[in-house]
Amino acid sequence: MTTIQALFPPRLPQQTSDENIVVNWAKNATLAPAQAVATPENEAQLQQMIAAATGRIRVMGSRMSPGRMLKLSEPGDTLIDLSRLRGVLAVTDESVTFAAGTVLHEVFETLTSMNRMLHASPGVIDSQTLAGAVSTGTHGQGMGQSSLADEALAIRLIDAHGEAHDIERDDPAFDAAQQALGTLGVITAVTLRTRPSTIYTCFKSAGSADNLAEDLIDWNEEWTFSKAWWFPDENKVHTWNAREATAEEQALWRDNHGELVEMEETDEQMNATVDKTLAQMRDDTRIVDENGKPFRTVTRFKDFTDVIGDIYQVFCRGIATPQINIEIGIPMSRVAAVIARMKAWHSESQPHMHYPIILRCTGASSAWLSPAGGEPTCFFGFVVYYAEDGSLSEEGTAFLRAAEQLLAEEGGRPHWGKYFDPSLYNWPALYPQFEAFKAVRRRFDPDGKFMNRFMAEVLS
Ligand SMILES: Cc1cc2nc3c(=O)[nH]c(=O)nc-3n(C[C@H](O)[C@H](O)[C@H](O)COP(=O)(O)OP(=O)(O)OC[C@H]3O[C@@H](n4cnc5c(N)ncnc54)[C@H](O)[C@@H]3O)c2cc1C
Repeated sequence: MTTIQALFPPRLPQQTSDENIVVNWAKNATLAPAQAVATPENEAQLQQMIAAATGRIRVMGSRMSPGRMLKLSEPGDTLIDLSRLRGVLAVTDESVTFAAGTVLHEVFETLTSMNRMLHASPGVIDSQTLAGAVSTGTHGQGMGQSSLADEALAIRLIDAHGEAHDIERDDPAFDAAQQALGTLGVITAVTLRTRPSTIYTCFKSAGSADNLAEDLIDWNEEWTFSKAWWFPDENKVHTWNAREATAEEQALWRDNHGELVEMEETDEQMNATVDKTLAQMRDDTRIVDENGKPFRTVTRFKDFTDVIGDIYQVFCRGIATPQINIEIGIPMSRVAAVIARMKAWHSESQPHMHYPIILRCTGASSAWLSPAGGEPTCFFGFVVYYAEDGSLSEEGTAFLRAAEQLLAEEGGRPHWGKYFDPSLYNWPALYPQFEAFKAVRRRFDPDGKFMNRFMAEVLS
């Protein structure tokens, strides 16, 4: 097993103001010396850089993943920043091509301005880059869709020789390129399939978690998008279930100038549970500001109301707070058994709960390295927020470790862009196309130019 310190590093407040180094978004890892970062102005410059590089290369987006994915291994290696490659490159009736460094917020805003959306529901935040989100399989919820990577119709990628490839869906390398963790090459553009924008009504409710497994499966079968927060200490579940809005509901949204409509009737059922969770989080983080970001992630469950809005207004409303987040995908067919085991574990060991367990299910992904690859999958998400001094509560991290261990034993596959203990997983057993992925990797990058120590360990 990997040590806690290596898995969940403390934040580095003293180093974050150092202009000579680049850190990740959570500020818990140094990625590279500042002079090792290269920011190409355009694709041609990027191609030259890659072809001329004698050291290894990693490419970064918004740096929201754990630092080990992006960290350079040796002096002379280069960290490529694609932030200058952004914006719309092409539009057809069914698709929009964006430069890879475009931030999701801009992607979603652009689509909305065109009266379009993606089939895939967004994750909770939109500060990731398009290429970063695609490369790690960023996802939301809903069985009729899968991850953002599954919305790609074509991926343009620069290989280790600096050559450009337009990889389309019928290309044998497509399923590898869809979610490649930055190890096939540098993505410069992604063509996303689009559909007309739709307005949704999201019904929020709270209830007992007695029949959570059955309810979760029913909600996901019945609703277009379903998301649940499970509070095992209180045996409660808070649910958001959304379907297409009726004509009347759409009129309410239009009357509200296209802004999210919050219904007047509020529900207090979650308030006591939220207060208990807040007390726990205050103890763990020692943050005194009652309006501090970590607290707002749960206070929003108080006095909840149903809402009407577009998919981004309804679901992409998270508050990005420095945190350790783990998310493990379990095949839908195993969800009932896993929830039963988690309930038994919870009642036996009474683990310390820092935050509710987030349950988001998706349809199957075609990406070879997707945790939802091949079958509908339910993601179990766990979060622990950093304390003010950059530390993590010991009880919180002990809970994360125990939960991950349990889900790994059940055949779970971790989200690549979040935290996980690689020693718990047998990758070739979990991913039937693991060797095929490695073969494609060797084709695009025969000498391992796009690897760092961590990626080499995982893909060895
Ligand atoms: C607060 C928070 C909330 C989150 N919410 C969700 C959520 O709701 N759903 C979800 O699924 N995930 C979520 N995530 C995970 C997040 O979406 C992933 O970590 C994502 O990869 C971050 O994108 P990024 O632009 O920061 O990429 P980075 O972290 O910068 O990079 C991630 C990976 O992508 C590769 N990469 C980046 N750009 C390129 C490129 N141009 N070409 C090739 N490879 C590239 C990198 O090499 C690296 O391997 C969340 C993370 C945080 C911190």
